[in-house]
Amino acid sequence: MKAVTRFAPSPTGYIHIGNVRSAIYPYLLARQTEGKMILRIEDTDRERFVEGATDLIEDTLKWLGLDWDEGPIIGGPNGPYFQSERKDIYLAWAKKLVNSGRAYADPTPKEQIDAYREECNQKKIPFLYRNFRPENPPEWKPGIPLRFKAEPKDYDWHDEVMGDLHAGPEALDDIIIIKKDGFPTYNFAHIVDDSEMGVTHVMRGVEYLSSTPNYLALYEAFNLKRPYFVSLPHILGPSGNKKLGKRDGAKSVTEYREDGILPEAMLNYLACLGWNDGSEKEIYTKAELIKNFSLDRIQKSGARYDETKLLWLNGEWIRKIFVEEGVDELFKKTTDFWPAAAKTANEKYQKKVLSIIYDRLKTLSDLKTMTDYFFRDPEVNVDLIVNNKFLKKLSEADLENMLKVTVKELSVLENWNADSLQEVFNRLLEETGKKPAELFSLIRLAVSFAPFSPALNLTLETLGQKTTLSRLNAVARAI
Ligand code: GLU
Repeated sequence: MKAVTRFAPSPTGYIHIGNVRSAIYPYLLARQTEGKMILRIEDTDRERFVEGATDLIEDTLKWLGLDWDEGPIIGGPNGPYFQSERKDIYLAWAKKLVNSGRAYADPTPKEQIDAYREECNQKKIPFLYRNFRPENPPEWKPGIPLRFKAEPKDYDWHDEVMGDLHAGPEALDDIIIIKKDGFPTYNFAHIVDDSEMGVTHVMRGVEYLSSTPNYLALYEAFNLKRPYFVSLPHILGPSGNKKLGKRDGAKSVTEYREDGILPEAMLNYLACLGWNDGSEKEIYTKAELIKNFSLDRIQKSGARYDETKLLWLNGEWIRKIFVEEGVDELFKKTTDFWPAAAKTANEKYQKKVLSIIYDRLKTLSDLKTMTDYFFRDPEVNVDLIVNNKFLKKLSEADLENMLKVTVKELSVLENWNADSLQEVFNRLLEETGKKPAELFSLIRLAVSFAPFSPALNLTLETLGQKTTLSRLNAVARAI
């Protein structure tokens, strides 16, 4: 069956990773079945609307490689794809319910409704608006909310993730379908749109499960075939017992992107958050996800968010791209992440740096802190040397001598490459009688003043003879 799915975000600004996962599964199903993926912008809640949020959504989907077949930018036969531009469609559908006696105008003021709710709270009975339905509702006209007239009864339905479900009459109420401002509610608009757009699979967060009986009543009132329901489990915070929130340190997708998470890793991570194919496999390309995805392996219970895993996966992806596609491909993805000093360097040199450091990167933004010394001389900091755990036992004379011998050997080295540098190091160990940790820590610090560098011979090979010698000399002078 060719699935028609949709991602229907509300443009409220911040793109939570849970929102994005609700785009990934519909995308995978649509692509797997060679169906269609629709992007629909649910912007009828004007109070929560944020300018620019739609661009952010589109941009994020493109970054992740999730293209759509109908929706903003590209259009399609069932447009418009912004709910705010579909008002007439909703009103026409709403009128059908008014005409069949299944909807009524409700001018009851908010204070009165609150009083009904309070009355029920006092009596400790569930608040159901249908028990307070106005007896003689006026004719419906703009400015008056329109409510669906519920018929309390039992509903049974199947959810592809949650299984067979049942709800009793208490789940049904007179929900508002058109608000005072003339815009439809989510509860109503999505049913109209999914039907007009031919959506076969409604995939959304599990939080909509409790309202589903009301949706079933609407499908029935319009004599519509029910779609397949696919309720996606919550993403839980690291403790595993409540919904992931900002306080858990979870960043927005934009922040992860700016921090140097690769889109491949983000897609891989989120797709596997609450779904697996039953194997031990952890690294999935988009093509593999499309091939292996299945609704029946989406887990029912919440999935625990684990940022360490995301970072691990990102490192794996950095290495995978380097090994399988080469340094040029990885380099293309690093443009925004180099330290400022790299701007003056040429691409060939940057690629050389990248190829010796890539296997240490967790995120691309590590490039900023890890590679600065490849592009400008670090500030000489004698304290760092004399307090280093391997060097603090040595005297100044020792350090000076080690540097002197190193400079002497390196200045006469003719083939400046990693192998011959390694030979020089071996000779230096013999000549100075020092331990590898002592000699190498000194050279490493003197050329980089960084806590970490790739293998020393590769680091010096990349820096080049002239830079290496001038940095060693600068330190020798300062000690
Ligand atoms: N606009 C809703 C939201 O952002 C979408 C729910 C759905 O996919 O139907 O939560």
